Formats: sequence, C-alpha cells, structure tokens
Amino acid sequence: MDADLRTLRERLAEVSDLHRAMGVLGWDQRVTMPPLGTPARAEALATLGRIAHERFVDDELGRLLERLRPLEESLPYDSDEASLIRVTRRDWEKARKVPAELRAEMTRAAAQGHQVWVEARARSDFAAFLPTLERNLELRRRYVECFEWEDSPYTPLLDDYEPFMTTTEVAEVFGVIRPALAELVREAPRVEAGFLRGRFAPELQRAFAERVLATFGFTEGAWRLDTTAHPFCTSFSNRDVRLTTRYHETGLESLWSTLHEAGHGLYAHGIADSLQRTPLAGAPSLGLNESQSRTWENLVGRSRAFWTCWYEPLRETFPEQLGDVALDAFVAAINRAEPGLIRVEADETTYSLHIILRFELERRLIEGTLAPRDLPEAWNAGMRELLGVEVPDDAHGVLQDVHWSAGSFGYFPTYALGNVISLQLWAAVREAIPDVEEQMAAGELHELSAWLRDNLYALGRKLTPKETIERLTGTAGIDPGPYLAYLRDKLAALPAGA
Ligand code: ZN
Repeated sequence: MDADLRTLRERLAEVSDLHRAMGVLGWDQRVTMPPLGTPARAEALATLGRIAHERFVDDELGRLLERLRPLEESLPYDSDEASLIRVTRRDWEKARKVPAELRAEMTRAAAQGHQVWVEARARSDFAAFLPTLERNLELRRRYVECFEWEDSPYTPLLDDYEPFMTTTEVAEVFGVIRPALAELVREAPRVEAGFLRGRFAPELQRAFAERVLATFGFTEGAWRLDTTAHPFCTSFSNRDVRLTTRYHETGLESLWSTLHEAGHGLYAHGIADSLQRTPLAGAPSLGLNESQSRTWENLVGRSRAFWTCWYEPLRETFPEQLGDVALDAFVAAINRAEPGLIRVEADETTYSLHIILRFELERRLIEGTLAPRDLPEAWNAGMRELLGVEVPDDAHGVLQDVHWSAGSFGYFPTYALGNVISLQLWAAVREAIPDVEEQMAAGELHELSAWLRDNLYALGRKLTPKETIERLTGTAGIDPGPYLAYLRDKLAALPAGA
C-alpha cells in the first residue's frame, strides 16, 4: 500500500507541475507578454491543459484510489494521506463525468466569447452578445446533464466554485442579507470623500503599498508584486506567490485592491509544505479564498485600528491631498456606502447587492425561467429595486462583467459568500487574539497573519468548506449574522448627514 501511495503522489505531482507551468504561462500572458503573443499562448495552454486533464482522469489513477481505500479508512479523517485520497477521488470522479469533446467546446466557446464580449461592451450592444450568451447557456445545460442534482440545475455549476453548496443554501443566505443590505444602503449617510480623488503619483502609491505589505507576514523571497490591467493573484507554490495591481493616478483605490490580492496571496503562501504538488494545495472553495482577500482588504485595511498606525505615513506620502484631512474623516470616507452602477467599483456595503442580482438572474437563465433576450430589462429592473439606480446603457449594466462571456455561471455568489464568511472567521480571530485591534493600531500584524496561516491556510483543501468553517468557528454552514452586524456598526459609526 505504501508503494500505491507513493505512485499516487508521483502521478499527482506531475499533474500539479503541469498546472504550475500553465500558471506561469497565464501570469506572463497577463503581466508581461506582448499582445500579439495571444494565439501561440492559447495553443500552449490548451496543450498543457489537455495533457494535465488526460493524466488526471486516467483509469489507473482510479484503480490506485480504489486500492488505497483501506488505508484511507485506517487513518484519521484530517490526516494528509486520508484527505489526499478522499479529495482526489471526488475530483477524479467529477472530472470523469464530463466528455472530452464537451470540455473542449466549452473552452473554445469561452475564448471566442471573450472577443465578442469585448467588442459588444465597447459598443454597448447587447444584441451582438446575445448569440454568445445563448451558446454558453446551451453548453452549460449539457454540462449540468453530466451530474446529478436535487434542487436546481444551477447546483452542479455552483459546485465547481463552491463545492458541496446547493442553490437552495445560497438562496437562503442571500434571502437574509438582501433586504437588510437594501435597507442599510437606503439609510446610509452621505459622506464627504472628494479628497480621495486627486493626484496620487503611482510610484508613491507603490512605495506605500510595499511598506504595508512588508508587515503582512510574507516570507522574504517568496512573493512579488507587478502591475497589470486587471489585478489578480496567482501562485506556483507556497514559495512563489505573484500579486498584481494597477495604479490609478487620480485615486487611492489601488491600495485596497493590492491588499485584496495580498489576502489571496497569504492564503497560497500559508498552505502547508506537506500539501504542495497535490490537489490539496488550494483553498476549499472560492468563497473561503475570497473571505481572506476581504479580511485583509476590509477587516484590516479599512479598520480605524489599522489606520491609527498607517494614516500618518500615508499623509506624509501625500501631504497636498491629505494634509488637511483628519483620521476620522479619512476612515469615514473609505467606509462610506454609495450606490453605483459598477460591481468592481462598489463599496463594501453595496457590493453584495450587485452579486445577489447576478445570482438571481443567472439562476433563472439556467433554470429556463428567464429568456436570454430579456436579460437587460431584468438587469435594469433589479438595479432599480436593489440599489435605486437607473442603468443608462448595457455597457454600464448587463455587459459590464466578463464572467458570462466565458460561460462562468455559478461563480458570482462566491464573492458575496466570501464577504459573509470573512466575518464568521473574524469572530474566531477576535476570540483567539483578544487584542487584535490594539495590535493593528501598533502596526503589528504578525500574530494575526500567523494565526490565520496555522488555523486556516495550512489546511489547504483537506476539509470541505463547511468543515473548515466549523473547525474555526464551531458553527457549521454559513451564518450571515456577523456580517450584517459588522455593516450596521460600521455605518452607524459614520458621521450622520455630513
Ligand atoms: Zn478576490
């Protein structure tokens, strides 16, 4: 059996190396590659992706997993070995259910859809995008047929990003936060924030962000920060983490975007060495991964405690813009709630409402209760109802996000689930580190970072999302209570009617 385990590890390490190589090609494509390299890069990625997939769905891997069942059952559930066999088996069974030609068609349609979407959005032309949307929906319906589901055909799509969660469970969580957030947004005071829009030299922003990141607990030599058009984070091992960001000359928002990606980076950086080159080297779900980007961006990066330490250095960096602005005014401005049209520009309070709208619409598209051609109208009505804003055109409405052009249905909910989960886990942090706010105010983030690493990041994908949350909080499942309480407290602390 030892030989079987060794063989399993070797085979999985090979697949993992192929994925790491794809990661490097993908990072390079988005950060340094000249644009004309796109077709050749797409071919190289498709070839590596096909080889990795073939190696993984191989019959022999299934036989190995079967022979290892007794070993798995003899070991503790959360041991590295039992987890490796169990999680790999689920991944393997899932991957085998989808015929190769459907997978290839979905990949092709996504690549073609991207170009169509870029042009349709530039011209605000939904009709030009409609055939792409219909094609992606048709492919997703065929994909869903490969799986069993009980409550909704949307559930197998969700499972790709938020394993083991059902559509019904998401709808329950969103059913609680939807009316509460809409009311909070309606009643939020207007806060002066004009000083956040001025000239902020990118090189100074970069230097400041790097000073902050140096306190986050990354090991020196294990990460880097580059600039790109659409910020993201990737990693090729827990010792090679790539953060990216984009600096705007007329605002400071890149700072929080950098802290966000750093949260993803800390997750990858904290995954245990023993899980490297296995399918366990990742987060249990996108929601859990996003909970950590939100933790570092918002719970740390927008807190009064954090800025008690960092506001003076920021003010010294930008004396002309912030010299006259007091700490309280700054903290109020970065925590204000203001309805807008664009998801990626949304503040912490309105953000999840953008997501709930997308979830409701894509669920209806998949369930067949909303015709694709009626999508813009449904979108605009939803924006009016949830955020009280009028959508001027489809570029600022239904065409704003890339996801549907790639057929990524089921992805959106993970952003809002991440917000909710971040507060559940934060309650556990505060219990474990009662003086975490004092530490943040003193610029001390090491204990926080180490606690999250040891208790969450190190686990990788060994446990399911629910088991992971339960291990840290004692509560199974997703509880929106702490998230809503946090937002209520935050908005109540804003100066009224300023
Ligand atoms: Zn993120």
